[in-house]
Amino acid sequence: MKINNLGEFGFIDRIKKGCLNREEGVIAGIGDDCAVFRVSDNRVILVTTDMLIEDVHFRRDEIPPEFLGRKSLGVSISDIAAMGGVPREAFVSIGIPGNVEIEYLDKIYEGMKSIAAEYEINLLGGDTVSSPDRLVINIALTGEAPEDEILYRKGAQVDDIIFITGKPGVSSAGLDLLRYNREFENRDILLKLHFNPIPHVKAGRLIASSKKANSLIDVSDGLTADLWHICEESGVGAIIEMDKIPVADALKEYCHRYTLKIEDIILHGGEDYMLLGTVPDKSSQELERILKSGGCSYFPIGKIVGEKSMSVLYCEGDTRPLNPRGHDHFCLPR
Ligand code: ADP
Ligand code: MG
Repeated sequence: MKINNLGEFGFIDRIKKGCLNREEGVIAGIGDDCAVFRVSDNRVILVTTDMLIEDVHFRRDEIPPEFLGRKSLGVSISDIAAMGGVPREAFVSIGIPGNVEIEYLDKIYEGMKSIAAEYEINLLGGDTVSSPDRLVINIALTGEAPEDEILYRKGAQVDDIIFITGKPGVSSAGLDLLRYNREFENRDILLKLHFNPIPHVKAGRLIASSKKANSLIDVSDGLTADLWHICEESGVGAIIEMDKIPVADALKEYCHRYTLKIEDIILHGGEDYMLLGTVPDKSSQELERILKSGGCSYFPIGKIVGEKSMSVLYCEGDTRPLNPRGHDHFCLPR
């Protein structure tokens, strides 16, 4: 069987077995946004690692190097936020083709150091190797959170309200604009979020410390794909209410201008790096108040159900089954 038939998530499932040789102290291994393990009686550490590869995740002639540096660390910061943690120590490994200009690499590190400074992250090490022809950046990042506040994908309960902390689809529209080389008056708004995603660390901490929510993930693969990760890990299903999903004006204008199906971009576009979670119905308003008073956004967009499938509900009352289509490195959309 080829990896293209198995897919990214089938592969991760396959290698999951036999990974633990010392189970004690491991709170979460493979399967969530971060691993969580105990380092002392009252302290646990979060760890995540993400790799960006030229021509898979970015094109060198498209993304300015400062933003490439910011994004390569930003995606890992987002995984720490998705557990309710604060980012701490980073390790940067980079594979560089021999003909890359040193000034270009300096700019990548300028960007990486600028986002590290904003989140008070130390860059503590890494590795530098040559790469035949594509630039590769891998970052491992640790984080911290009180153990009893950490949120996982697996906690969603039937009747929970599904919420997001931002407006989905903008980054994906930015990518579309680049791929088709399209003119657009608000080009910068779309590209900014695509090149320079903002991890929702403050929202993640507020959600976790409130102890109101049951589950949390960050939206990297796409709204439905990441909601499906929560559903699978929790053994539940979901109904999304289409008209409750907040839509950015620039995305509306862009889809109108190029007659694109906005619903597909909102539901399946990736790389938004906002948070997606679930909270019991009775605590939804209180969580909204907490997030908004901290300057963060909160949008309830649906409900968790017992039947293990996803559907979308329209304001006229129609429902349609929803396939968890999103980014998989090896599989075409399901
Ligand atoms: P995210 O999108 O939040 O970065 P991923 O979908 O990349 O998460 O990964 C899901 C889980 O699978 C994580 O726990 C991650 O550490 C683990 N994982 C992914 N690839 C591998 C691998 N090659 N070996 C071991 N664990 C992996
Ligand atoms: Mg994640």
